Amino acid sequence: MTSPADSAPVVPDYAPIPRTALGPALNDQGYFVGRVERNLYYVTDGVYQAAFLTTADGVIMFDAPPSIGGNLQRAVDEIAAANGVSNTVTHLVYSHHHADHGSASSLFGGDVIRIGHEDTRRLLQRDGDPSRPLPEVTFTDRYTLAVGGERVELAWHGPNHTPDNIYIHFPDHDTLMFIDVVNAGWVPIYNLNLSEDVIGYMGAPAIALDYPWTHLISGHLGRLATRDDVAVHQQYIADIEASSREALASVDPVPYYVAGGANFWAGVKGHLDAVTERAAAPVIAKYTGVLAAADIEAFTMTTTFQIMQSLRLDRGPSGPVHP
Ligand SMILES: [Zn+2]
Repeated sequence: MTSPADSAPVVPDYAPIPRTALGPALNDQGYFVGRVERNLYYVTDGVYQAAFLTTADGVIMFDAPPSIGGNLQRAVDEIAAANGVSNTVTHLVYSHHHADHGSASSLFGGDVIRIGHEDTRRLLQRDGDPSRPLPEVTFTDRYTLAVGGERVELAWHGPNHTPDNIYIHFPDHDTLMFIDVVNAGWVPIYNLNLSEDVIGYMGAPAIALDYPWTHLISGHLGRLATRDDVAVHQQYIADIEASSREALASVDPVPYYVAGGANFWAGVKGHLDAVTERAAAPVIAKYTGVLAAADIEAFTMTTTFQIMQSLRLDRGPSGPVHP
């Protein structure tokens, strides 16, 4: 073990974060709660986001990130007191099964009605985490949640970030909640925001834009997203795809395999690293100063690697056919 002084991390000299990427200031307890529209609110700790809807019959919570944790109920209490409505959370909707968006669920006890996609239930059953109780109400494609005169439309349009990640539409609040695909004003972190289905992830923003909405609750960072944020994200991904195609076509693999000799995997690494670096470099240059953290090269590099692999393996061809 080294002392903290010896091991203090050194942060590279990254480009400044664009002001538009930053969210509102947090209160003394470390959260911000803001009105999205009317009785729909979102809560953030600056990095994670959840949402809640106050109704005549209680509160519907959407996601429960552990990093916000006890501040979820504090935010509800604050708003309920200000508006003279119930602060009892009666329903909790899971956007997807991931712990970082759901494992404050158990704080709401055993009486809250949990709702999620059938695959969310299956994956939570698999993972066996007591902090994320299984949803007892599940659906396959669509579910209308009607509570206290309010209506929310839940829909599954195929796998993307995870197999179970759903679209949560608030038709009476001009809002969509769709988690872990678009980061408003920021690049995705490693591997397309740690996503499992590359083609599904790449197509998801267009599905999100098919809904009518003005406000997007994206699950991360401090502020709500706009339709323009989604368009910039789509362009970033499209640029990576185009650049990957160009690099796959133009980097000659032969010298890397010759250099690798009998170590075929050394040849594979040399070739694919060269393609990734060639594809990612112009995208990193283009988006530095536009999307926050675009110059954290590992993020764009790993996302490029995933997209480049998907171009080979999902779209094909993976290579020439032996004559
Ligand atoms: Zn996730």
